[in-house]
Amino acid sequence: MTPNYQRLTILGATGSIGASTLNIVRLTPERYPIFALSGHHQVDALAALCHEFSPHYAVVPDEHTALRLKTLLQTLACRTQVLKGAQALIEIATDPSVDCVMAAIVGAAGLAPTYAALKAGKRVLLANKEALVMAGDLMMQAIQEAKATLLPIDSEHNAIFQCLPLRFLAPRLFPALKVDPLLAHAGVEKILLTASGGTFRDLPLAQFASITPEAACQHPNWQMGKKITVDSATMMNKALEVIEAHYLFGLNAGEIDVVIHPQSIIHSLVAYTDGSLLAQLGEPDMRIPIANALAWPERMASGVKPLDLLQAGTLSFKALDPIRYPAFSLGYEALTLGGTAANIINAANERAVAAFLSHKIPFTAIAQLTREALNAIPIQAASDFDTIIGIDLQARAFIDQCIKTF
Ligand code: NDP
Ligand code: MG
Repeated sequence: MTPNYQRLTILGATGSIGASTLNIVRLTPERYPIFALSGHHQVDALAALCHEFSPHYAVVPDEHTALRLKTLLQTLACRTQVLKGAQALIEIATDPSVDCVMAAIVGAAGLAPTYAALKAGKRVLLANKEALVMAGDLMMQAIQEAKATLLPIDSEHNAIFQCLPLRFLAPRLFPALKVDPLLAHAGVEKILLTASGGTFRDLPLAQFASITPEAACQHPNWQMGKKITVDSATMMNKALEVIEAHYLFGLNAGEIDVVIHPQSIIHSLVAYTDGSLLAQLGEPDMRIPIANALAWPERMASGVKPLDLLQAGTLSFKALDPIRYPAFSLGYEALTLGGTAANIINAANERAVAAFLSHKIPFTAIAQLTREALNAIPIQAASDFDTIIGIDLQARAFIDQCIKTF
């Protein structure tokens, strides 16, 4: 396999990251033949993608959806084979003919196929941060055992990835590449994740309780799926990203800082011991990190024009206000608590966001209920997959119980 020819499986092809990935594939389709695509509810969109990219397989959740997709594919004279269910997601992520897996399912549903891809030694492009938050230790262990490759897609983590030397990254993220262990630390002091501040960064706090799902699904700088857009508004997204950074780069909580940068031009920074700060800048467009990871260690066109510094104007920074974003500190707390704490906040938040989006709880209850779940559910060692799934279900059941009181 060379970075310029990879057979791809895209988990979550019908989503925002899936669409950006396929936009890049369209630029040079001969380099990135599609082996398989998965979707969930958007069957028409998945059928159109099958018609265009002719994957061997398309995966949907159940029999009913599979029948709908098969019917649509017949009318399009498309020969893509339709598979269904969670096991089929694992099969398309681990098939021997797949080189690279884009993990772009949202939430806990992406964990099993993403973990399976790493255990199969694949090159995995990780957008699905929730998988790493849930099972970071297991995933990092799988990379070592299977000599897999993990490349971050999240814009902040991809920025940091670009600002760190290979000898720092290789032992954790692509152990097949041998580096001198004596040089591995590389003088990295800390990393700084930037945060836009989300949709409500300037809204008076008194109005937070009446925020509607429609308002929370509008992000000022990025076009993304609903769950991550709400997570950006509560800043739970940044809490999850602190945990994601801990696993990806092997840094502890004290080595990960967050700063508000409303323009989303600097995507994150690395501070070195000599006082240097290295940053990656660009338009807020996910095609940049996706192209970076697809082509890595080379570079390719993403279809995004380079940032015009004269147009970008003033770049500003400010400290994050923990009163405005009560969900944010949960990330650091979960890191400090260790074990299944991160798993609890991830599942509780996912369930609470879904309840908010269906008008069952107010916006402010998302952080409140997530904290209650962290306080109530006993933390265990996150040592095996079954424990992680068990805690995930327990946290969801806890939130469902709490929702009844609203
Ligand atoms: P979207 O909601 O746009 O897309 C999610 C994808 O997952 C869709 O293909 C959806 O299918 C599929 N899906 C949803 N639920 C399930 C399920 N239960 N089982 C299997 N598949 C499912 O999300 P995004 O693309 O915005 O985000 C994807 C991941 O990338 C998230 O983890 C997010 O945090 C991360 N990310 C996203 C960024 C962005 O800019 N969008 C930036 C950084 C990280 P369907 O649509 O057919 O129902
Ligand atoms: Mg991000």
